[in-house]
Formats: sequence, C-alpha cells, structure tokens
Amino acid sequence: MGTGGSVPTPARNTSAVAIRTAQDMLLFDCGEGTQRQFMLSAFSFMKLEKIFISHLHGDHFLGLMGLVQSMNFSGRDRPLEIFGPRGIAEIVHATITLGRFELAFDIFWRELKDGEVVEGDGYSVKAVEALHIPNSLSFILEEDGRKGRFDPETARKLGVKEGPDFSRLQRGMDVIVGDRKVSPKDVMGPPRPGLKLAYSGDTLPNERFAEHAKGCDVMIHESTTDSSLAKKANDYGHSTAAQAAEIALKAEAKALYLVHISGRYSDATPLLEEAKRTFVNSFLPDDLELVKVVSSD
Ligand SMILES: [Zn+2]
Ligand SMILES: [Zn+2]
Repeated sequence: MGTGGSVPTPARNTSAVAIRTAQDMLLFDCGEGTQRQFMLSAFSFMKLEKIFISHLHGDHFLGLMGLVQSMNFSGRDRPLEIFGPRGIAEIVHATITLGRFELAFDIFWRELKDGEVVEGDGYSVKAVEALHIPNSLSFILEEDGRKGRFDPETARKLGVKEGPDFSRLQRGMDVIVGDRKVSPKDVMGPPRPGLKLAYSGDTLPNERFAEHAKGCDVMIHESTTDSSLAKKANDYGHSTAAQAAEIALKAEAKALYLVHISGRYSDATPLLEEAKRTFVNSFLPDDLELVKVVSSD
C-alpha cells in the first residue's frame, strides 16, 4: 500500500503492506493515508483482521485513526485486532478517543515483545526486536504446514481406483482395496512447510532478523537509501539497499522486496541495481503493486 520512507511523496505513500492469507487479511504498518491506498487497490480495508505496527514513528501508524473511523462509518461490527511494540496501547487509545466518535466495534490490542507470537487462522506472526528506536519490531509471518502431496501413481499401484477413494485418502481416511487397507501415509508425501514472509520494519541490518527469516519465500526489507548515503542512513537506524540485500542473502530468502524508499529518490532504480549486485532476485515494488506468492513445491 505504501513503499515510501518517513514522508509521503506523490509517488510513494508511507509504510503499509497488506497481506491476504488463505483466511485473513493482515496489515503490516499503517502510514498516513493507508485507507485511501486501500480504496485504490484490489483489497478492501473492511476485510482486515489484524494490524501489526512495527514501531511508533508516525510514518508507520498515523493512518490508524482515519482507517478506524472509516471502518466505523462503513458499518463494521466485527472486532479488529491491533498489535505493536510497547506503547501501542496509547496509540490505540488515541485512535478510539481523539476523533470524538462512537466506536461501533471492538478493538483488541496487545503489546508484543521480542519472540512473542500471535496465532491466527492457519498462520502465525512472530515479533523480532528490530535495531531502530527502542521498542521497534520486525515481523515473521508463517503459514501453518501443509499436508504432503498425494501420489496418484503409488495409489494406483496399491490398487486404489481413481475417484472417491482418491479423495478419501487425501482427506486423511483409510480405504479398503480387496482385503487390504490403504492408509494416507502410504500415498501422501512428507508434510510441506507453509509460506513464510519476513517484514523488517525500520531497522539497521539485523543478523537476528536474518536468522528468524531463514528460508523465507519473501523478504520485505526497508531500503531507505543507496550506499553513498550509508552513514546517514545508519545514523538514523536505517539500512541501505546493499545492506538489505546482504540480509536477504544471509536469510537465504527466495525474493527481496525493497520498501521505505527515501523521498529524495524520484527514480529509485539505483537502489534496485545496488541490491541486485548482492541478491539477484530483488524487486522494487511501486505502491499498490500486487504480488502473488505461491509455493514452488
Ligand atoms: Zn519509517
Ligand atoms: Zn522509524
């Protein structure tokens, strides 16, 4: 929803990444104007279940108040959950009270510390302390493991006929073939891990984040500047494109998306080029760019 850093520009809004899982819609960060970005996108903010705020710099949470008020005007009655670092309770309180409106739905919130996990429907989100300001978090989203793949060849060899018995086995039931029993374990491959996505939030390059992100399908990493401004970026607790790429490499990520691009770049291609020199599968998404993440196995 927003790929810019610190201040919005006509080209890039401030930080927000919407994720649609199989069951839920989640939002990582909610910079000012995020609700309007939703309106311009293929997603509806009314479907949001959980919002995760990485830290309490305005470019990561100022969109909450407008978003919550619009949900209210649009008749939301389902609860909304908001997670963030220490201090998020204050932001939620301000969101609810400062607008002088009657909130028609519940907001539940929880302050997260390093290592804490939020369980969702078919996925979990882990908070990892980031190296930015005190109480800054990165997030690791992991889908629950998926069943192994059904092997129709083996099933046929064991005498199972294609049709209802195939689907019974895939649903975890035994079937009887002649006088023998065929069980799912005979015809299903090993369980497969779910998709994994790592969102850095604002941070200096962080080895611990790379460890927690190990093997992720997608890493979304802040990349505020190019390397010529490394000192400036690092002094403010930010990473360069090359540093983001090094973290993606360490994490053995499958793809890297660079976000939190400083407004000083009207053309951020040099950041992408810089990242690609270290990590080939790097991308520089525009605001509202839709990326479908599928498993390769
Ligand atoms: Zn920021
Ligand atoms: Zn920040």
